[in-house]
Amino acid sequence: MKLNAFTVDNIPLIKKGDDIASMICERTKIEDNDIIVVASTIVSKAEGRTFRLEDINAGEEAKRIAGMHGLDARFVQAVLDRSHEVLVEFPIFLVETNNGHVCIKAGIDESNVDKGYLAYLPPDPDLSAQMIGESIEKVTGKKISVIVTDTNGRAFKIGQTGIAIGVYSIHPIKNWKGQKDLFGNTLAITEEAVADEIAGAANLLMGEGDGGCPVVIIRGLELRSQDGSVKEMYRSDREDVIKKGLRSLNKI
Ligand code: GDP
Ligand code: MN
Ligand code: MN
Repeated sequence: MKLNAFTVDNIPLIKKGDDIASMICERTKIEDNDIIVVASTIVSKAEGRTFRLEDINAGEEAKRIAGMHGLDARFVQAVLDRSHEVLVEFPIFLVETNNGHVCIKAGIDESNVDKGYLAYLPPDPDLSAQMIGESIEKVTGKKISVIVTDTNGRAFKIGQTGIAIGVYSIHPIKNWKGQKDLFGNTLAITEEAVADEIAGAANLLMGEGDGGCPVVIIRGLELRSQDGSVKEMYRSDREDVIKKGLRSLNKI
């Protein structure tokens, strides 16, 4: 078996209104079943999802949390505005975004954004992935998948990795339940987080700094599906013992 992963080179600095799909199609030859992995930073910039702290008014809660971290209260307000729950206030500022993604500071940061500006995550990253994907399919006539990624930490380990925050035409989870292992045992619980695995692989080529590689193509996997949503990965509140634990910590 073989997997190909390569960057789409010479993508310029992305500005509001840029057509990411066309930029990709102009720079590479797309094939059926390609998985186009796009860093959320450029999706945010193309969609104009950037802001300046000068334009934010911080409320009391933002000021209180900002004080614990020594952060700018306007930044904390921007995080609160994009979040429907704060899971941990301190020593990490962990939230669940309005779209259901749990991450530090709602994924808002200033890295790789014009000076003086910050970028927030696309509010509906599945929709962003879909718009890019449908547009690439229209131009090329090929059937592809798209994964929009961000870089996130892990709960129990040091180090960040690429993860999927939005998908188009790929199920983020591959279900192995009912399949046999080498010894004929039936697998009972294994669900493979393929979209996160692909995001991690793509992120190896993107890097985090000034590499200028926000798009990676993964070729050689047959994971395309008719539909798919990143929400298939998010545990329901009822099943999520970690969230329950974090909420109970806040009450101490
Ligand atoms: P995130 O993981 O989505 O937060 O994105 P990063 O800020 O880590 O950037 C991922 C990759 O995309 C890095 O190689 C950056 O240098 C690159 N990148 C970010 N913005 C742009 C852009 O506007 N144009 C180009 N060509 N590369 C960019
Ligand atoms: Mn990011
Ligand atoms: Mn990154």
